[in-house]
Amino acid sequence: MRYDAIVVGAGPAGSTAARTLAREGASVLLLDRARFPRDKPCGGGVTVRAASCQDVDLTPVVERTISGARFSLQLGPAFDRRYDEPLTYMTQRSRLDAHLVEAAVGAGAAFRDGESVRSVEVVANSDGRCGGSGSSLAGAVTVRTDGGSYTARALIGADGANGVVGRATGTRPLSEEAVALEGKVSYPNGVPADWQDFIGLDFGWLAGGYGWVFPKGDHLNVGVGAWKYAAFTLRPKLAEFCYRYGFDAGALENLRGHHLPVRVPGSRIARGPVAVVGDAAGLIDPLTGEGIHMAFMSGRMAACASLRLLAGETDDLSPYQRAVDRRLQPELTVSRKLQELLQFAPPPYMAVMRRSGKFWRLFCHLIRGELTYLDFLRMMGPLRLAVDVFASIARRRRLSRLSAAR
Ligand SMILES: Cc1cc2nc3c(=O)[nH]c(=O)nc-3n(C[C@H](O)[C@H](O)[C@H](O)COP(=O)(O)OP(=O)(O)OC[C@H]3O[C@@H](n4cnc5c(N)ncnc54)[C@H](O)[C@@H]3O)c2cc1C
Repeated sequence: MRYDAIVVGAGPAGSTAARTLAREGASVLLLDRARFPRDKPCGGGVTVRAASCQDVDLTPVVERTISGARFSLQLGPAFDRRYDEPLTYMTQRSRLDAHLVEAAVGAGAAFRDGESVRSVEVVANSDGRCGGSGSSLAGAVTVRTDGGSYTARALIGADGANGVVGRATGTRPLSEEAVALEGKVSYPNGVPADWQDFIGLDFGWLAGGYGWVFPKGDHLNVGVGAWKYAAFTLRPKLAEFCYRYGFDAGALENLRGHHLPVRVPGSRIARGPVAVVGDAAGLIDPLTGEGIHMAFMSGRMAACASLRLLAGETDDLSPYQRAVDRRLQPELTVSRKLQELLQFAPPPYMAVMRRSGKFWRLFCHLIRGELTYLDFLRMMGPLRLAVDVFASIARRRRLSRLSAAR
């Protein structure tokens, strides 16, 4: 079968890409190896900034709207902060992803679930380039699944961390790997009142990450994340975290972990008629661990670049990589510095969060997308130089501690 574009992976990045393409009249095949609705290890927190760059109404799958956070440091006493507007929407990935696939299909995309991509072949044109304008483009990419073989003029890999598209086409970015482990505490009659409007965030005792409590309709999602080298600590840390909040760690349901890839800036995410998006491109926000926001953004950007390729305006999907490097990566780079600082010295961060209403409001503006990380840095004036210096000291110390531990 022949399409204008194939999208591999129907998570938030893939379904956004497929819908954007289909809406503009392209013929699109969206493939996923799982049968939908499918779940995925994830806290299911969709920040307001993520939701606001999505043009599908997410209300039908939102289980709770959060406007406050309960912070703690190293499992110590907690303090609450509340905002007068929503900060994050809580959903479950089985529901969110099925909803977004439905929107892509509604826009005209063909969806085949339960079909795993096994191999990808990119056929160069007679001039040696991949893709390009004109009729020689037809069949530029061939994707083989366990159910059939499909060709297209553009291919978007939205198949998550370590996906087959990136591996097969040289578009797998260099990345630093984090990991997270999460489970579910069930409350069939509704979550406790003190968790209904708050998420819980605990910092300062996990290598590069944090612990969280995310309330849903009938359960709390409880999890911990850290750099990959500390993966072996996650189970005992999750048990400690549960103990701190009075949850029975032994009764956690659906315990599962997954990777969170953090892209090394500049590494390749597009080649010829192929681009990778979302987790496949390593576009996790290092400070928050959030991936859905960038999945939406990069899915749409790759679809726009594909539309230009299909229209013969460009020869390949390199404009997508340039757009990511110009618009998204600078944000992620600042986020990475702030994360490095937070992990280096969590107590001052928490002290400021607790005492300064202004700092809390800035944090809320970031989560709501009213402020970017770059705006935040600019607002710091000359202090931003201190951020650079201390972030690089923090990074060097972390790396030297890590190599000493090895
Ligand atoms: C424990 C944990 C908690 C998290 N919590 C949050 C959170 O609260 N908020 C947030 O914003 N982010 C969170 N994240 C990150 C977020 O889950 C990811 O960034 C997000 O899922 C990325 O979306 P995606 O579309 O790129 O990839 P995915 O959602 O991973 O989707 C990839 C899809 O590709 C399919 N696929 C893979 N290989 C193939 C193949 N060979 N053939 C066909 N299909 C294939 C898979 O079945 C899957 O459906 C969390 C991550 C983890 C691990």
